[in-house]
Amino acid sequence: MHPRLKQQLDQSPQISDETRAAIADFIAAVNTTYQEHDNAKQELTSSLEQSARTLMDRNAVLTRNLEAQRESQQRLSHSYDVLNATLNSSNEGVLVIGKDDALIAYNERYLDLLDLTPDQISGLTGTELFKYSCSLSTDVDKLRAQLKDIREPGGSSFEEYRFLNGRWLEIYARHHETAGYIWMMRDITEVREKEATISFQAYHDSLTGLPNRVQLQQKLADAIVEAKKSHKRFALCYLDLDGFKTINDSLGHSTGDKLLIEVSKRLSEVIRPEDTLARVGGDEFIVLLNHIDHHDEVLQLAETLLLKLYDPIRLDNREFVIGASIGIALYPTDGEEAGILMRNADIAMYRAKANGKNCFHFFTPSLERIAVQRMSLETSLRRALESNQLELYYQPKVCMRDVSDSLRTGHLHSFEALLRWPKANGGFVSPESFIHIAEDAGMIGRIGFWILEQACLQARDWYQKGYHANISINISPRQFLIPNFHQEIVRTIHEMNIPPSLISIEITESLLMQDLTHARHVLEYFREHGIFIYLDDFGTGFSSLNYLKTLPIDSIKIDRTFVKDLSSSTADQAIAASIISLGKNLDMLIVAEGIETAEQADFLIRNGCDLAQGFYYGHPVCAEQAEQYLHPDDILHHAIAKPFSAE
Ligand code: C2E
Ligand code: CA
Ligand code: CA
Repeated sequence: MHPRLKQQLDQSPQISDETRAAIADFIAAVNTTYQEHDNAKQELTSSLEQSARTLMDRNAVLTRNLEAQRESQQRLSHSYDVLNATLNSSNEGVLVIGKDDALIAYNERYLDLLDLTPDQISGLTGTELFKYSCSLSTDVDKLRAQLKDIREPGGSSFEEYRFLNGRWLEIYARHHETAGYIWMMRDITEVREKEATISFQAYHDSLTGLPNRVQLQQKLADAIVEAKKSHKRFALCYLDLDGFKTINDSLGHSTGDKLLIEVSKRLSEVIRPEDTLARVGGDEFIVLLNHIDHHDEVLQLAETLLLKLYDPIRLDNREFVIGASIGIALYPTDGEEAGILMRNADIAMYRAKANGKNCFHFFTPSLERIAVQRMSLETSLRRALESNQLELYYQPKVCMRDVSDSLRTGHLHSFEALLRWPKANGGFVSPESFIHIAEDAGMIGRIGFWILEQACLQARDWYQKGYHANISINISPRQFLIPNFHQEIVRTIHEMNIPPSLISIEITESLLMQDLTHARHVLEYFREHGIFIYLDDFGTGFSSLNYLKTLPIDSIKIDRTFVKDLSSSTADQAIAASIISLGKNLDMLIVAEGIETAEQADFLIRNGCDLAQGFYYGHPVCAEQAEQYLHPDDILHHAIAKPFSAE
């Protein structure tokens, strides 16, 4: 009992001993209870302390565990990032679909290749994505087959697709035991496009985009196989533009190119879908007409082709009219093999050209003979040039009146150099029949140069002997187009060390008409260098007064066709007379060529013609014989009154 409580009890006499004992018992009981309580508390405290310690230990373990888990989570998330980055930086599109059809993984490249956004793909199933792929592919069946291939575990498949968005995709698909269905795709558009370009270039003409010779040959081979099987006919048309070289050489290649593009466009419009139009050379095209039932079909098409081309073409503010010559060979009559058909169409084309151009010609066996002759002529001409068999002859031009103090009536005025190709059995091949072969065979440059050199050597020889005999050389239109040919002429004259007044040139109207600007430039160059210019064969061409007036031409030669019938045809008389008066008005020297009779000469003299040339005055002769004309006394004696006695 608490001492204070005991003291209180002791000091209270009214409390009975009984009560006092009861209280004391009670208090003792309380004491015991307290005691017990204290004991229990003690026990609890110690047990609590024990639990706290255990808890703390556990906590520490837990914390450690959590830490370890966080670290492994970090590591996991890092490797996930690495994996993602790797996947996304791959150039191949990757898509993984689980076996339950759920979308497991994809990379950015996949979205890019299939034109998808992350929003669009999220939530889609494998089946939905496959349907979407099918909507893009041009070959759904192939895609389905590929899907089938990977149904079985371990299955894999590799295919290539052209997608509607223009992409070429290479798709590799496989079935993975745990991952599911893995689709990998690679963009091979660039590779395929490059391949396509290369193969296009191999089979097409780069300028016009038309099939080229290689493709034509394939088509031709196919056409032969097909025609053999079906017993059908087909036609091969060889089309060559007329005068294209002139345009190309004089107006530049860019204009020439534009013209070719326009021509190919026009030709393409005419042919039928089953036909082939190919460009096989500079200005050469071939039309392969399949399944021809009747000859007339070809005829009609050839006519349409020509008409279509003949419409004026406007280019760079100029207007061109371009014609074409077409040669036609038919399968099987004109050949059963590609090579023979091509050759025969080509032969027929040459005939069309010879017939005056802008027309077509069917192949005939007689054309072949002509072509063979022509080829052998070309070969021998080449040989003749190389072995120096060609010769220059000289025909005098004589003064019909007093042209100047030194060139008086009956005097030799000058010579015209004329090319001669001696035949083995005597006589000559006419230059008229071989000059154009030389032009076509690309020999005219060399031949022209040989003529110039020969004429210069001859003029120098006579000059050194004391004669001032001018020699005129004929310039062919094709030669006129050779770049810098005029400078070459002037240079050669200088190198030969002779006065330029010893050489003159004869050009024709057709040459002027091809390109007036270029012609003017060249002719002015000649004039500056003191070279005299004759306009040959006047009256046969366009005879435009305009260029006569504006170009530096010194003399016109009345074509021999007008001279021929002078004594009988009043029309020719009128033409000759008016050419003479026209030339006089323009201050030009007038030459009449092809004078064979005294009557012709009389008429021309009466009408004031300046110079005469023709058999009446003298045939073309070799240099040695020509030298006799250089003695003025002889000439005075022979001319006018009597023709020269040369030959
Ligand atoms: P061209 O320039 O008109 O030459 C005149 C032609 O008329 C020459 O024929 C000549 O022999 C001939 N001829 C001369 N007088 C008479 C005559 O009284 N009557 C007749 N019927 N004919 C006469 P060729 O020599 O056969 O030459 C023919 C054409 O060949 C020439 O016509 C010319 O265009 C060309 N040619 C001749 N030589 C050359 C040359 O060296 N270079 C070039 N580019 N062409 C030439
Ligand atoms: Ca001439
Ligand atoms: Ca002439």
